[in-house]
Amino acid sequence: MKSPTTDSNSLLKLKGVGPKVAEKLQRLDIHSQLDLLFHLPLRYQDRSRIYPIGSLRPGEERQIQGEIQLSDIKYGRQRMLLCRLSDGTGFITLRFFHFSNAQKEHLKRGTKLLCYGEVRRGKAGLEMAHPEYQFINDKDDIELDENLSPVYPTTEGVHQLTLRKIMSQVIARLKNNELQLAALIPDALMKNHQRPSIKEALLMIHNPPVDTKLEELADGEHIAQQSLIIEELLAHHLSMRQLRVEMQKEQAPVLNKQTKLTEKFLSALPFELTNAQQKVIGDIVFDIEKSTPMQRLVQGDVGSGKTVVAAMAMLQAIESGYQTAIMAPTELLAEQHFQNFKNWLEPLGINVTWLSGKLKTAAKREAIEKINSAEAQVVVGTHALFQQGVDFSKLGLIVVDEQHRFGVHQRLALREKGNHKEGYPHQLIMTATPIPRTLAMTAYADLDCSIIDELPPGRIPVETVVIPEAKREAVVQRVEQACHDGRQVYWVCTLIEESEALQAQAAEDTANLLSAALNKVRVALVHGRMKAEQKEKVMSAFKAGEIDLLVATTVIEVGVDVPNASLMIIENAERLGLAQLHQLRGRVGRGSQESACVLMYHGSLSDNARSRLAVMRETNDGFEIARKDLELRGPGEVLGTKQTGIMQMRIADLQRDQELIPEVAEMASQLFQHYPEYVEPLINRWIGQATKYITV
Ligand code: ADP
Ligand code: MG
Repeated sequence: MKSPTTDSNSLLKLKGVGPKVAEKLQRLDIHSQLDLLFHLPLRYQDRSRIYPIGSLRPGEERQIQGEIQLSDIKYGRQRMLLCRLSDGTGFITLRFFHFSNAQKEHLKRGTKLLCYGEVRRGKAGLEMAHPEYQFINDKDDIELDENLSPVYPTTEGVHQLTLRKIMSQVIARLKNNELQLAALIPDALMKNHQRPSIKEALLMIHNPPVDTKLEELADGEHIAQQSLIIEELLAHHLSMRQLRVEMQKEQAPVLNKQTKLTEKFLSALPFELTNAQQKVIGDIVFDIEKSTPMQRLVQGDVGSGKTVVAAMAMLQAIESGYQTAIMAPTELLAEQHFQNFKNWLEPLGINVTWLSGKLKTAAKREAIEKINSAEAQVVVGTHALFQQGVDFSKLGLIVVDEQHRFGVHQRLALREKGNHKEGYPHQLIMTATPIPRTLAMTAYADLDCSIIDELPPGRIPVETVVIPEAKREAVVQRVEQACHDGRQVYWVCTLIEESEALQAQAAEDTANLLSAALNKVRVALVHGRMKAEQKEKVMSAFKAGEIDLLVATTVIEVGVDVPNASLMIIENAERLGLAQLHQLRGRVGRGSQESACVLMYHGSLSDNARSRLAVMRETNDGFEIARKDLELRGPGEVLGTKQTGIMQMRIADLQRDQELIPEVAEMASQLFQHYPEYVEPLINRWIGQATKYITV
C-alpha cells in the first residue's frame, strides 16, 4: 500500500487530517488529495432549505427545524427516546432507539433543533427515526447549504461530516487551481463537446447547485456525470486492453499445425464438425502457431460442442510435444471431461491424467509426478490444477471450461501460474454464458472472442412448461410414463443459499419418495457430498442407460452430457437465475429426440420470477436469455464479478451506460495509437493499483 505523499497533493496538508485519519482514508483507497476528488458521492441531500413540518409527507427526506415540546423515554420491548418537535405549522416525533445519557439530557423540552431525516408514518402521526440533528439558538442562526449536499461512502472512524469538511477543502483547492488536474482525454477524441471538462464535472458532482434535479443525478443522466462516466469506462477499458498488450509482449511456445493426431481423432468421431466449430478451430490454430500467448474466449451456447473444439486445439499442442491442461469449475464436470478425453485420446496413445483436490495423497503424488515429468500429456481437473506444488514441465495450452464461474481475477492469476521458462502457455477460455456485445467489449477487452453460433444439426428446442408444485402428482406420472417409454429423466432438487449438506439431504429424500412411488423405474442419486468414485459410477451407469431417473442437486448444472436424457424436472425453479436455468435445461435436448423441461415452482410467484420463467418458456436461445438476465439482474451477477471487485465502478454502470461503450472502445483504440502517454495516468486515476494485486 502506498503511504501518503508529502507534496502539496498530500492528505496531511489538509485541516483535520493527521496520520491516523490518513491511514483510515487509505481503506477507501484514498492516498492523496487527487484521490479524494475521485471519491464520488453516493447520493445527495437537499439542505438548502427548511421545510415547514406541516408540509411533510411520508417517504420524503427533508430538513426541518423546531422546538422540542415533549421528551420522554418509553419502555417497551426496547427502550427508546421520543421527542416531539414543533415549528408552529405542525409537529413530528423524533425516535431514537440508541441514545446516550448525554443525548437524553440535551434533547429536552425547550431545546431548538435543526434536523435532517426521512419522514415516516408512525402510530401517532409523522416521525423521523434517528435524524441527523444539530442544536440552534434561533431560526436565524441557521446556515443553509448553497448546494445540494453530497453523501459519500464512509469508513469506520471517518464520519460523513468529517469527510465533507475534508472534501470541501480539496474542492476549494481545485477551484482555485491550487490543485492541478490534468485533462487526460485529448479534445480531438471528444465526440460530444457539450460535456464539461473533468474539472468542471468534478466541481459540479461534489457540489451540485440547488436547482439540479435529484432524479437526474440519481439516474446518472446529468451531463457532468456523463463526462465522468466516460472517463471511468475508458479507464476500465484501457486497463483490460493493457493486460492484453502486456501479454502480447510475452513469449509462448509455437504450436505448429499438425495433422496426424487431429485427423485420426476426427475420423473416429461419429459426427462431422459444424461449420461454426471448424471456423473457431481455425481461429485457435492461427493463434497458437504464433509465439505470443493466445488469449481467446470461445462463446458457444449450451450443447454447441465446445469440448470437441478444445480437444482439437489440445491435439495440436500434444503433437508439437507440449502438455495441455483442461480445468473445469466443478468436480463432476471435470470427471466427465476425464472420461471423455480418456475415451477419445487413449486410443491415440495419449496419456490422460486426473488431478483433483479430493485425490488421496498417494494418488495425488503420482499425478503430480506425471505432470512434472511431462508423462501426463492431457491433465484434467478442477482448480487444484493450479495449486502450489503442481509444476508442469512443458505446458503449451490451458483450457478453462465454463469460465463464467471464474472472475477476472482468477483469469489473471491463472495466466501467472502457467508461466514457465519457455514463456506463457496459450489460453483458451470457454463459456456457455453469452455476454451481450457491449458488455463483453469492456469485461473481456483483454481477450479475443470467437463464437460458435450454430448448434449441431438435428437438435430440437426443448419444450418448456411452468407448473405449480401443487400439480406434483401429475409431474410424477409424466416421469413414470417417460421412463416406461424408454426415456431417461433428470429430477433436479434445488435449495439455494443452503448448505451442500441440506441440498444433499433434500435430494436424498426426493429420491426415496420417487423410488417408492415409481414402480419398475430405476432411480439413482447424485450430489456434491458423494465420493468422487461414487458419483462417477452413478454418472456412467446413467450414461449407459442402466438408470432411468437421476435425482440430482445442481451439481449437474454444467457439462453433463447424456444425449439420451430427454426430460428434466427442476424443483423451485423460481429461485434460480436465468443463466443457471438455461445451463440446467441444456442437459436435455442433446440428442435427436424431442425433449421437455418442467419448471416447478413453490407458492405464488413474484413479478420478477414470473417474467424469468416466462423467458425460459419462450426461448431456447442463450443470447436472448443472457440479454434478459442482464435486464433482470444486472452485470455484476452476469459476469460473476460482483464479489471480485475489478468491475466495480464509482459512477459508471455497465448496464445503464452501455450505449456509451462503443464510443469508449473507439476512444481507447485512438489513445493506444496516438496518445499512449495518457493510458497509465487514466488507469491510475480511476482504478489505481487494483489490477496488479491478484490472487486466486
Ligand atoms: P457444450 O458446448 O455445451 O460444452 P458439448 O461439447 O458437451 O457441448 O457437446 C454437446 C454434445 O454434442 C456432445 O454429445 C457432443 O458429442 C455432441 N457434438 C459436438 N459436436 C457435434 C457435431 N458437430 N455434430 C453432432 N454432435 C456434436
Ligand atoms: Mg461443455
